[in-house]
Order: sequence, then structure tokens, then C-alpha cells
Amino acid sequence: MYPAHMEESIRKVEATRERRLKESLLRLGDEQKTPLLQRYHPDYVAGKMRQLALGPNKGDYTPDEVADLLEGNSCLDPDKIDLGRVDYDVDVLVIGGGGAGATAALLAQENGAKVLLTTKLRLGDCNTVGAQAGTQAADRPNDSLAIHYLDTMGGGHFANVPELVEALVKDAPMVIKWLGTLGVNWDKMADGTMHELSGGGASRLRLHSARDYTGLEEMRVLRDEIRNRKIDYLEFSPAVELLMDDKGQVCGAVLVNLETNELTMVRAKSVVMATGGMGRLHIQGFPTTNHYGATADGLVLAYRVGAQLIFMDTMQYHPTGAAYPMQILGQLVTEKVRSLGAQLVNVDGEQFIMPLEPRDVVAAAIIRECQERQKGVKTPAGQVGVWLDSPMIDMLRGEGTVARELPAMVRQFGRFNIDIAREPMLIYPTLHYQNGGIKINTEGATTVPGLFAAGECEGGVHGSNRLIGNSTLDIFVFGRRAGRAAANWSKEVKSGSLTLEHVRCWQKDLERAGLSKLRPVSPLLLPDYARPIPDYLPDYSAQALTAHRIKLT
Ligand SMILES: Cc1cc2nc3c(=O)[nH]c(=O)nc-3n(C[C@H](O)[C@H](O)[C@H](O)COP(=O)(O)OP(=O)(O)OC[C@H]3O[C@@H](n4cnc5c(N)ncnc54)[C@H](O)[C@@H]3O)c2cc1C
Repeated sequence: MYPAHMEESIRKVEATRERRLKESLLRLGDEQKTPLLQRYHPDYVAGKMRQLALGPNKGDYTPDEVADLLEGNSCLDPDKIDLGRVDYDVDVLVIGGGGAGATAALLAQENGAKVLLTTKLRLGDCNTVGAQAGTQAADRPNDSLAIHYLDTMGGGHFANVPELVEALVKDAPMVIKWLGTLGVNWDKMADGTMHELSGGGASRLRLHSARDYTGLEEMRVLRDEIRNRKIDYLEFSPAVELLMDDKGQVCGAVLVNLETNELTMVRAKSVVMATGGMGRLHIQGFPTTNHYGATADGLVLAYRVGAQLIFMDTMQYHPTGAAYPMQILGQLVTEKVRSLGAQLVNVDGEQFIMPLEPRDVVAAAIIRECQERQKGVKTPAGQVGVWLDSPMIDMLRGEGTVARELPAMVRQFGRFNIDIAREPMLIYPTLHYQNGGIKINTEGATTVPGLFAAGECEGGVHGSNRLIGNSTLDIFVFGRRAGRAAANWSKEVKSGSLTLEHVRCWQKDLERAGLSKLRPVSPLLLPDYARPIPDYLPDYSAQALTAHRIKLT
């Protein structure tokens, strides 16, 4: 149910609907896209990015919120850590219990490794379960790996690392089959063929989905598989620092038990970082679609052992986050709504952008419509947004399509008496995804020996803008590759003795740069507004730092 002034605008949306059903806007050319992005996309807002002052990417630009954490203080005092005490001794440690981590753990075990997976919250508390629209793979007769490759490169503004994209699209059809054999219930047509949709920037139907809760379904089978295969996992046990050996190889991690504050020491011959994204940093104050644990921890830990990062100046703001009601501010309205035919319209009921342009372009166009052209709709809470005209879907595709294809969306808005089959949704861009991350090669190896990375915490695959359905694909493709490579590495490597010398060096560098008292403790683990962690690690910190969230004594 909408307040009266919003209802007034909805009447205008209804009045133009018949005409708009036949109206299709053209895609923008590069000469129109580039200035639109430069003027309105948050990645280009002057003064909100800064150059990193130290570390492997010194001099590179990244949002202030990310820079603060990458330049952060360790919560450990190496002098107080007993490296002789090892609680777990394994071949492969996987850090992160989302889709990428679970996949890596399965493949590492299949390749003969003794595996431990550790995760910050519960296994499956992650962004993967939020994935709605689906997973891309070119497996139809009129599609090809080359077309998928070109779409992905085009979406990423051709900044993507080509060999990573090649790996992504080549493995995609196999990944869909693999997930099917594990038990994912893909949407199918009556004749048993895949029911596939298209999405922004994709020129073919190749989005494989399970209604609009695809990621939940994908994670369901992965979690079952981890349990069935009896892979050991720890919950509520985030990694707070990586361990290295005296040969400069990553060989384990220090974990903290969030319930007891006790440290756990894990020695591993190789580590797969799979900690996901950073939406909970709320860059530039944007709301987010991400789960509570998405705080860039993996980037911080990898950076501190010297791993290079890539594309850290580009974030994805999903064009359609809920702008009303306030209770669901920033929550995702899946791109599938646009794939099914819904248009984006302003306060007067007029279209202003072709709805299936790549996400960064659509987000910039919405911001322009609201900020510059003043054609947005204001909510009672002072938010602004434009309409996503979902009632068009049933008109285009037949009565009942919304209910059948978008049950999660129907429920999300139905709780607030908004029937999206009859009324449009008010939306505005929301922080959704980190396009960049830890630099990897095609096997998921980072620039530091013994450290592999998979999923949203790695970067390069998507260039500076990810396409719909390519991230869940990324986590399976590179989760599989990293898990296998980490297992193989663990068979060959000769590990040295454990050390936290890199933490000592890092703290010295911070002090030399005059930053140690200005930066927070990182990794952050949970956003500031989460339930505080009381007296976190009280016995392990050497100094009381002035500017950080966690109280150290
Ligand atoms: C609402 C939503 C909808 C989406 N829809 C789609 C879609 O339709 N298609 C698509 O392709 N992509 C989609 N995406 C993106 C995609 O789902 C994610 O990018 C992807 O699933 C990330 O997987 P991951 O395993 O890398 O990270 P996650 O699934 O987030 O898992 C990371 C895990 O690491 C844990 N972790 C974090 N820090 C630590 C630490 N210090 N120590 C230990 N563990 C830690 C986290 O708690 C979490 O369990 C969507 C994302 C969201 C949020």
C-alpha cells in the first residue's frame, strides 16, 4: 500500500502503460554511455576514493571505506601468539562458507586433500543464498561460448582479464550439469529442456534459475554435500590473520571463536580465500543487498600477506534496490523482473532508459533521473526512487507469470500490502557487488604462494562491471579450480616453520606511514551496527589504538 502522493504517480504510470507496452527504447552507444557513467555513477564521484598509502597496491585508488580497512591494524600481537600450538593440521583450509568456499572444499576433498572449512557465521550465511535471478551458461543451440565471452567482456567494458573470462565461459555448461547432479532443481520447460531467460548485457537466453531463489537452491545442495561427505567445518569462527612460513608461503590462519573469543590455530599446506564481498561497508552511504558478514575480510587478510588486488576502484551498484518501504531499503529487486519485461519509469510514467542495459549504465541513468532531472518519486522517509513497472509482466507473458516466476519478490513486497502483479515497485541503486578483488590466475592462485582465492573476493573476471548470472557462475568455476589447485599444491609443497612476521612488518610499515593510530582494526568482521563483540580478543593486543571499533585492553 502506497501513500496518496505516490498513488498519484502510479496513476500516471498506469496511464502510459498501454502505450509503453509497444515502446522499446534503443540501447545506448558508447558515446552516450561513457559520459553518463562519468557523470552519475558512484565510482566516478570525486573525493570518495583515495590512493592506498601502503601495501602491494600502493598508489591505486579505492573507496575510502575500503582503504581504511586495507590500511588497518591487525588485532593480533604476534608476540602473544603461541605458534607452537596447532589446533588443526590439514592440507587445505578454506576460509568462507558460501558458494565459492563450499565448492572449493568439495573439489579439494575430491582431489585427495584433508580439508577444513571455516566460516564467520553459519555455513550458508552468505551472499550466495541471496542470489535470485540465476546462473549464466551458454548451452542453447543459438548460443556459444564465444557469444557469452563477448557479452561478458562488453559488460565489463573490456577491462576483464581475458583468460579468466575464457575459463568462466568454457566451464559454465559443465557447472550447470554438475549442480544438477548434486540436486539443484533447475527450472525446466514441459519437454524437460532448461527454462532460460536473458539479462542486462546478455544477448542470448542463458540464465539458469530456480524461480527467484536460485542461490538458496544452489547453496542447499552444496551444504548437504559438505555434510554428506563429512568435510569438517567450523562456524562462527572467522579468520583474523593468515599464517605464513619462513619461506614466504601461506600456510594456515588464526581464527577467533565469536562466542568464546578463543583463538584457533590452523596449520594448512594451502589456503583458499572465499570470504565474499563488502556490501556492508555501505560505500558512500548506499544501502546494500549483502548479508551481514560481507565486510571485505578476505581482501584485508590477503593484502597483509602481500597479495595483489585488482580493480579495487569499481563497485557494482545494482540498479534496482527497494526504495520503499523503508523496512526493506536496499534489498534486491532481482534483475529478472526486467528480464521478464518490466520497464523503468519516472514520476510521470515515462521510460528513460532501456531496462536491460548493463547494470552500471542503468544505475547511472536512475541517479540522473532522480538527482539532475528531478523526475524521481519521494517517499515519506525522504528516499527517492523510480518505478519498476512489474504489472507489465502479466500483460506481456500471461496472467500468473509474476506469481510463478517471482515468488520471493511477491512475498517481499506482499508483507507490506504491495501486490507487485498490480502495482509497480519503487527502486533506487543499492551497493551490490565488488567487481574487483584478489588477483588470481586461471587456477585461482594469487600472487602469494600457497594462497588461492575464489568467488566474490577475487577480481579480474568481470572487469569493471559484472553481468547478471556471472557471479554465481564465477563462484562455481573458480571455486572448483581453486579447490583442485590448492589440493594439488598441498601434495607438492614443503612447508617451513610458522610465523607471523608479516604482521610485525605490516605494523611497522603502518607506523612509519604515520597511520597506525588513524586506522581501525581490520578485518572488520561485522558492521558497526551489528551486535558488538564484547572485549574482543582482550589478551592478544599489544597496544590500545585510538580509532577503532573493537575495544582492546
Ligand atoms: C541479494 C543478492 C542477489 C544476487 N543475485 C545474483 C544472481 O542472481 N546471479 C549471480 O550470478 N549473482 C548474484 N549475486 C551475487 C552472488 O550471489 C555473489 O557474488 C556470490 O554468491 C558470492 O559467493 P561467495 O561464495 O564468493 O561469497 P558469499 O556467498 O558471500 O560467502 C562468503 C562467506 O565467507 C564468510 N566470511 C566472510 N569473512 C570471513 C572471515 N573473516 N572468516 C571466515 N569466513 C568469512 C561469510 O560469512 C560467508 O559465509 C547476488 C548477490 C546478492 C547479495
